[in-house]
Order: sequence, then C-alpha cells, then structure tokens
Amino acid sequence: MRPHLRDVPIPDLPAALRAAGLRKPDFWARRLAVRIHLHGALSWEDIAADPEVGPRVRAALEAAFRMGPQLEHAGARVAEDRTRKDLWRLAGGQIVETVLLRNRKGRTLCVSSQAGCGLGCTFCATGRIGWTKNLTPGEITESVLRAQALAGERVSDVVFMGQGEPLQNYDAVMAACGNLHHQHGMSISHRRITVSTVGLIPQIHRFVADRQPWRLHLSLHAAKQTTRERIMPIARKNPLPELLAAMRSVQEQLERRWLTFQYVAIPDVNMDDEHIDALERELAGLRYIINVIPWNEMGAEYRPPSWAEVKDFTTRLRRLACPVKIRYSGGKQEGMGCGQLSAEQIEVAASGGHLLAPPGIFTA
Ligand code: SAH
Ligand code: SF4
Repeated sequence: MRPHLRDVPIPDLPAALRAAGLRKPDFWARRLAVRIHLHGALSWEDIAADPEVGPRVRAALEAAFRMGPQLEHAGARVAEDRTRKDLWRLAGGQIVETVLLRNRKGRTLCVSSQAGCGLGCTFCATGRIGWTKNLTPGEITESVLRAQALAGERVSDVVFMGQGEPLQNYDAVMAACGNLHHQHGMSISHRRITVSTVGLIPQIHRFVADRQPWRLHLSLHAAKQTTRERIMPIARKNPLPELLAAMRSVQEQLERRWLTFQYVAIPDVNMDDEHIDALERELAGLRYIINVIPWNEMGAEYRPPSWAEVKDFTTRLRRLACPVKIRYSGGKQEGMGCGQLSAEQIEVAASGGHLLAPPGIFTA
C-alpha cells in the first residue's frame, strides 16, 4: 500500500519525493512539511490550495502517497478548569485521546502513542484494555495539530502520557517528536517534548545511544522490586538495579541536569516509610525530581489517597532533599493550593495522572 504522506517523517521527505519522481525534492519537502506539519493540511485539496502545486505535481504525489485525515473527531469535553479533552477514532475503530492542560508556563498537550496498552499495570485503566494498535507518526502529529486547531490555542508542550507505552512504539514516537520539533513543523523546543516510560531497559539504552533530545520521565512508582512487580508486571523483566543504571546513563550521557521520576501514590501500597527508605537508598547519587501523582480511581481494588495522606507523604519525602511536585486533577481537588504546602512545588491544573476516560462520558 502507498504510504500516507503524513507518516513520512519530515527528514525523509526529500528522498521519498525524489523517489516519487518530483524534481526539486528539497523545495517540495520544505513546502509540503510546512503545509502538513505546521498548517495541518488534511486532504489533497488542502495541499493543492498551495498555488505552487500544479496538476502534474499533485498527480505525482497522489500516485505515490495516500492523504486525508487518519483520525475522526469523536467527542470533546471541557472541564471547569478549562482542561480540554478530545477523543479521536482511528481507522480501526479504536478511540484515543488528547488532553490540553493549561498552566503558568503554557499549554501542554497530552497525547497517546498506542491504542490501549499491553503492559497491564494494575492501577491503570489503559492497561485493562490491553494493546490494540501502535499509532503511526502521522496519527500522532495529526492529533496534536487538530487538538490545537479545535482549542484555538497554540500548544507549547507535548507529553506522551496518554494511552500506551511510548517506548514500545519507539520509531513512530521518535519520528513524531522529530516532526513536532522540526523547523518546518511546529518548532516545539526539544525541552518541551516529554516521553514517559514504564521503564523498558533496552529501549532506554537505545534512547541514549540515539542521543534523543527529548525529555524522558520514568514511571518509577516504587524503589522496591517486589512492589514494582506487584503493580507493574513488566518490572519482572526490567529489574530495578539495571533500570536505574539505564536512567543514570540518561543523566550522564545525555547530560540531563534533572531526572524526573513519576510516583503514583497508592495508600497501603507504596506510601509508607519503607518505600521512602528504598527511594533514598536506590536513588542515591542521582539528581532527580519526584513527581507524585495521587492515584485516580479506575475500578481497581486500590483507594485514592486523601489530601492529608498526600501531604503527609510529601512531607516525609523531604528527607530525600529533592524537589517534589504533585500532579493532581484541578477539577477534582479544588481545595489544593500552593499555599497549603511548604517545601513542595505544586503543579496546578495538571491532569490527574492517567487520562483515559470511558468514551460514554464524552459528547460528540
Ligand atoms: N505508559 C507510560 C505513559 C502513559 S501513563 C507510563 O506508564 O509511563 C502516564 C502516567 O500516568 C504514568 O506515570 C502512569 O503510571 C500514571 N497512571 C496510570 N494510571 C493512573 C491512575 N489510575 N492514577 C494516577 N496515575 C496513573
Ligand atoms: Fe501501560 Fe503506562 Fe498504563 Fe502501565 S501505566 S498499563 S505502561 S499506559
């Protein structure tokens, strides 16, 4: 089947256009990249709206590539704090989402890298669906451009924290990051593109070897191997010492001043002093931030922490002498405010961790 034009990574466009028989492939690559990856062209008609694109060029393109939307908008919802969620239906019928969050520093779009996820973390709704599909680079970039267009606001940051494990769809995610960062695309700074991983050791090493410039956050959730294995089955194949050694190489070889460890806080699972001791011991020698995500209800046998429990946990975390951020759902826990904490930094209006919501609660 002909490749979809949006699925061709921007750096590969000149060669693909040359192969399609176009003269001046560099010129066309630049023009088409801007049209598709910046202005969000969805159809051949959008491409042909460029007065430079005559019938011969269009015919050559149509013979070599597919074009058209790869996603169907399947619903939207705006929360009280103006967080906006859009649902996107893929060609196979699966639904993924984007979530636009506003904070002091800009507008962050949370995107999906897979439909569902096969890794089965016990606290995560996406893990329950199971894996159904890897998104293509074109599907990912289209979701960003269309979410931005629907919101009518420029996206300043992109985080891969929607459905899926981004490092299990490594090539497509890295290509999408490259498109978002490219000067002929949205020109988003590499420091404003974040990939979040459950902790797949070989892929983290590959990320380092490839010298990927994007931020990489690790969903650590526990520095005790037994707890990790209990809540994250994939931890069995990715043991802590090797995982943290891989993160150390991210810090040292990619020269990252700070590593970010995400920590979903689940009462009676990973919030006691024993787990804080483990963090202190296992993370010694690294320079890191802990991003605490109070666990959100999703039907598992866990219980969401109360605000007092989160506060007590972050107070006990002070022992680690590292910056601690709390990510919470602005809509859900209106009572939280910067003034209520002392040493901690608070990220207001960020999402409540995982972003999957059942399609039923959205209106089309
Ligand atoms: N697969 C990747 C990225 C997607 S999940 C990863 O696991 O890192 C984004 C973040 O939300 C992860 O840190 C994940 O552990 C967390 N998360 C998943 N389910 C959650 C829930 N019910 N409540 C709070 N955070 C959750
Ligand atoms: Fe997959 Fe991440 Fe959810 Fe685990 S937390 S099941 S890796 S999406």
